[in-house]
Amino acid sequence: MNKIGTMGLLGLASIMTVGGTTAWRMPMAEPPRILSAAPTSLAAPAEPAAPKVAVAMAETRPVTLQPYLDLPDIPSSLEAIRAALALPPWSKTLDPGDTLGSMLEAAGVDSPMKSAITDALASEYDLRKLKPGYELRVLYGSTPVPVSVELAVGEGKTIEVTLGSTVSARTIEPEAEQVARAGALEVEGSIYASLDRAGVPTGFANDLGRILDGFVDMRRDLQGGERLSILWDETMLPDGTAVGRPTMRYAAVDVEGMLYEVLWPSEDAGSRHSIYRNGALLKDLVPPVENARLSSVFGPRRHPIFGDMRQHTGVDYAAMRGTPVKSTAAGRIAFVGWRGGYGKVVEITHGNDTMTRYAHLDAIRPGLSAGDVVAADDPIGVVGDTGTATGPNLHFEVRIGGRPVDPIAHQGDGFDKRPDGQRAKAALAATRADFAALAEIDA
Ligand SMILES: [Zn+2]
Repeated sequence: MNKIGTMGLLGLASIMTVGGTTAWRMPMAEPPRILSAAPTSLAAPAEPAAPKVAVAMAETRPVTLQPYLDLPDIPSSLEAIRAALALPPWSKTLDPGDTLGSMLEAAGVDSPMKSAITDALASEYDLRKLKPGYELRVLYGSTPVPVSVELAVGEGKTIEVTLGSTVSARTIEPEAEQVARAGALEVEGSIYASLDRAGVPTGFANDLGRILDGFVDMRRDLQGGERLSILWDETMLPDGTAVGRPTMRYAAVDVEGMLYEVLWPSEDAGSRHSIYRNGALLKDLVPPVENARLSSVFGPRRHPIFGDMRQHTGVDYAAMRGTPVKSTAAGRIAFVGWRGGYGKVVEITHGNDTMTRYAHLDAIRPGLSAGDVVAADDPIGVVGDTGTATGPNLHFEVRIGGRPVDPIAHQGDGFDKRPDGQRAKAALAATRADFAALAEIDA
């Protein structure tokens, strides 16, 4: 049983939602991305190219004159005529047993055109991944010869094939938006149920329990009545579907008169995890790789190479090969060299029986050897994929008394916490303001 499941058993009473949740849309900087548009030639019959004059007219802007001179909007009229003459599109959702070929045949596409479309789609998308539920649309002009084909492959992504004198295919990525959301609630019953009722992702119970481990016991200490505030980010498609995993940016929980606040890596907090008690920095976790994505967390997981369930003894940070890896705290080098599946590793002891391990390194800092003393933030090597790794990443491990512990929760334990007063205060203030602004919208 996983941790969430355990938490779900903790209480039976109902919860009270104080604030509920709100959404605030922040458009992402990038417009929809066209990944590639490689034209390929086509032997099949093609629609004649549009006359040049039509293109020229399409580029004029009669809309500014129209209100004064009452001229007809010629390009719009042409569009309207074209649209009126166009045959209706053919579309069908893939059912089990359907193939691309059978679908195109059903749409009345002839053989040469069919193979041209298939080749073009295959240049952009692995057709072996076609699944029931995907949708194929064939669009026509005024003749029953298709002018374009669209294959919707889930999560808002579409492969578009344009059929003209050449055939070209491109991938249209969904116009995803990063949406910041805030939820406030009062715990009653289990935290899992409380989050669920307030519309906050329940997986956060696990994340929060892990990071507050040692300060707050989410099972015992939450008796009911504690206020919980959470700020998080979600990636959403235009139709409101959430994609990917929601990520927490801020959480506040008051337990027996103590206010605990947590900042996860963000624009405000930088790449650190910071924990505060009553507004004062309690713990500041410095990652061994700056601005890297945490690609795998600590705990049981399906092994990416061997395929079976294994305990993941550390966390993985995905980063480009050659990215500097730094010591997370002051200590003494205990081992430098090759260690089986870990590949090239550096191990550092920090006192209190605590050891950190940095694995899959592409290279170790020249001259670094056992017995050397290092400070926090000292470069010790660079990211690579030596040993058993699917790609360049840093496997970072913390062991206490030889036993692997969750680095996100324990990285700062027993050694250099590097408090950074000004930065920590500013990060907390900025994040609190973000939360308040969102919670305000809801009020
Ligand atoms: Zn790993």
